[in-house]
Order: sequence, then C-alpha cells, then structure tokens
Amino acid sequence: MNLPGTICINAEGHLQVGDCDVVELARTFGTPLYIYDEEGIREKCREYHRALAAHYPKYKVLYASKAFSSLAMCRLMEQEGLGLDVVSGGELYTALAAGFPQGKIYFHGNNKSIEELNLALSAGVGYIVVDNPWELENLAQLAAGRKSRIKILLRLTPGIEAHTHHYIQTGQLDSKFGISLVGDAALEVVKRALELPCLELAGIHCHIGSQVFASESFRLAAERMVEFMAEVREETGQQLAELNLGGGLGITYTENDRPEPIAAFIHGIATAIKEACARYNLPLPTLLLEPGRSLVGEAGIAVYRVGAIKEIPGVRTYASVDGGMADNPRPALYQARYRALVANKADAPRVQKYTIAGKCCESGDILIEDIELPRLVPGDLIAVLSSGAYQYAMASNYNRLPRPAVIAVAQGRAEVIIRRETYSDLIRYDRIPPAWEKDATLPAVM
Ligand SMILES: *Cc1c(COP(=O)(O)O)cnc(C)c1O
Repeated sequence: MNLPGTICINAEGHLQVGDCDVVELARTFGTPLYIYDEEGIREKCREYHRALAAHYPKYKVLYASKAFSSLAMCRLMEQEGLGLDVVSGGELYTALAAGFPQGKIYFHGNNKSIEELNLALSAGVGYIVVDNPWELENLAQLAAGRKSRIKILLRLTPGIEAHTHHYIQTGQLDSKFGISLVGDAALEVVKRALELPCLELAGIHCHIGSQVFASESFRLAAERMVEFMAEVREETGQQLAELNLGGGLGITYTENDRPEPIAAFIHGIATAIKEACARYNLPLPTLLLEPGRSLVGEAGIAVYRVGAIKEIPGVRTYASVDGGMADNPRPALYQARYRALVANKADAPRVQKYTIAGKCCESGDILIEDIELPRLVPGDLIAVLSSGAYQYAMASNYNRLPRPAVIAVAQGRAEVIIRRETYSDLIRYDRIPPAWEKDATLPAVM
C-alpha cells in the first residue's frame, strides 16, 4: 500500500506517522483520535507554491478552511504563506482568533447574513466573494454606511459539470451557488458592481466541485472565465485583476482513486489561462487557487478501537468501532469510501473481509463496507486513511458522543490541537426551564 506523507509501518509492524507510533498515540490520547501529519500538510502547501511559481507569474494559494478549521491549522497555513478562505462568521472568527492576517482572508458563502458581513467589514477582511445580486446590494449599503471601500470578487457558475458526486458538484448551471455565465446575468452584476463606489471589483471566482481527478474540467472553466473577462473589458473597459478558480483537486481515498499530481494539475490550468488570454489579447490576471481537501485530506488519520465483532455466517462480519457517523458523516452522506489498516498489526496479511460499523443508532452508520483486513479481535486499532478533510469539520454530537481529540504529530512529538470533548461539554448549553425543575409542580397531563 502506498502511504502518503510520513505515514509508514515501523519495525514492530505498527502504523507510524510523524515518527510517532500510532498504537502509543492511541494509548496516550484515547480513541477515536484524529491525527494530522504536520509535515505531510506542509509538503502539500509547498507543492502548490512550487508548481504555481514554476508555471505562472502571479498567484495566490488560499486554504479552504472549511475542510478543517481550527486555530492551529490557520496558524500553520499562515506560516506556509497561504491566504485563507472562510465561509461563515464562525470560520472567520476562528481565523481572526488565530491572528491570521485579515487582508489575506477571502469570505465566501451563498447566504452571508448582515451580521457576518458586518463582522467581515469590522475585521478588515481582504476580500468578500459576492455570490448574488442581493448580497451585492447589502454589502454596498453596509460599506457605504461605514464610509469604507471593500474589495470583492464575483462568484460565477461557468456551466461546467465536474466529474464527481453530484452533491459536491458546484459549477453546473443548476446550482445554489453563484451567478450563471449563461445569459446576461453575470455581465449585469458586473456593471452594477462597477457603479457602486464603495466596492472595488477585483476579479471573478468559480469553484466547479470537489474530489475532481483531472484538470480537464478546470481547463474548461478557466477558458470560460477568461472569455468572460474579455467580454467585461469589451463591454465596460474594465480589466479584472484576479481570476480565482476555486479548489477541488481530488485525493486518494482508495486504490481506485488516481488524482492528477498537483504539479500536472497546475500546469494544465496555467496553460489554459495563458492560451485563452493570448487568444483575447488580455494581460494575465493573478491566478488564485483555493485547495482544501488536497492540502489536509491525506495528512489525516482517524483511529478507532474495535469492540464488538459480529459474524453473520454466509452474510458478513461486522466489526464495530468506538466512533462512526458522528465524527465522520461522509460515508452516510455521499457513499464515501476509504482504505484502512489495523494500526497494531499493520503488516499482517489481510485474510478476512469485514464491514466496519460505527456505534451510532443508525443502520447506515457504516464507515467501510467489505474491506479485507487481518483477523480482528476486540481492542485492535482501525486506522482510516485520508481522514483529514471534511470529517472532524462535519462531526456532530449525535447520540451525544463527545467529539474526538485532534492531534498534530511531527518528528516524534505529538501536540493536542483540539482537545477531546467531555460529557460536561455535551450539556454546557442545556437549560432547564424553571417550571420544569424537580421541585416544581408539574402541570397535570391527562
Ligand atoms: C469547498 C470549497 C473549496 C475547497 O474545495 P476542496 O475540494 O476541498 O479543494 C474551495 N473554494 C470554494 C468556494 C469552496 O466552496
């Protein structure tokens, strides 16, 4: 098995990451446990930088923080020279609390509230990615009220169908996101934005989907976007400075996933933009990319402890673990597939087929269906690979399960970056109305 980053199997046959033995980590920090390979993430950031620097004159890389937003991750991304995407007041607050430079934050979202826009303006966020005409008017009014000027990008839907699950396709015509490039709507919004003195139209944005394997759809999107930039110049005289092509490069979840390497993917996009700009005689815009999954996904490992094992002869064998859909809803949400190892016998032969079930009260709480593993016994550790993106970020407290701890490991050191929730965390927002207190007289029912 081809393992990413610093993940490997050590002399004891245990899974190892960042020079730390995963069996030891599970003992020290408990399970379920989310482990991030710090060097693995840093290396992906550097791959983006290197490839862009090699193939394109002006660029910015932004981390799409929704993949995994936390104080430590914001800090790491700042250290690696990335900007940051946020999609809500909460992600923005996290970035600000981490001391992330406001000017390098891009605020996305198809339904930002007035409170969120105000928070962004107060914080001095660099750019608002405006999704629709209603937001444009709201933002203009708020900025005018503050006598401030704010840079914006317009989110457009280029009408490209990325080859991925339709829940994570976003660039097609029928999408809740952005302004369609089909018809005149986008040009109308550009013209309106140019009329509004407190808004500075810096460029345009699109994001065609996620877990996309080939740069083909990105190249098509790039061509459509450059064509639109030419149309804008033609109709308004305005030359747009920034072209943001979103995120979406896929990662390896199973052996069947063959994402294009970052360097080839970027080369493909850069070439498409250069060719299209030459065709329309446009100066090259600054290219922005917003990867989320491809920066942090493969660097994450989710570790669970096996409990009950149930063999249904002739049908299947369930191995239940101490986490599941509460910490990782992706399999239930869109049939996501994973590969896994047994961390305490990572090099043992895979001799039996198991279905790894979560502990939530839902039959659909299955983490992995039909995976060949070494023979399992209660207490074994299942390590699910590529667990760094859209897992902890989507975790819930369903069944009142406390959210797991998240640690970062490098060079033999492990640091908690999000502590494990406790039972008392689970009830911290609960309130009992005074009339329901134990000594209160209950109204008679029936
Ligand atoms: C989700 C999202 C991204 C990141 O997508 P990945 O597939 O994680 O790379 C980037 N930009 C926007 C606007 C997004 O919504």
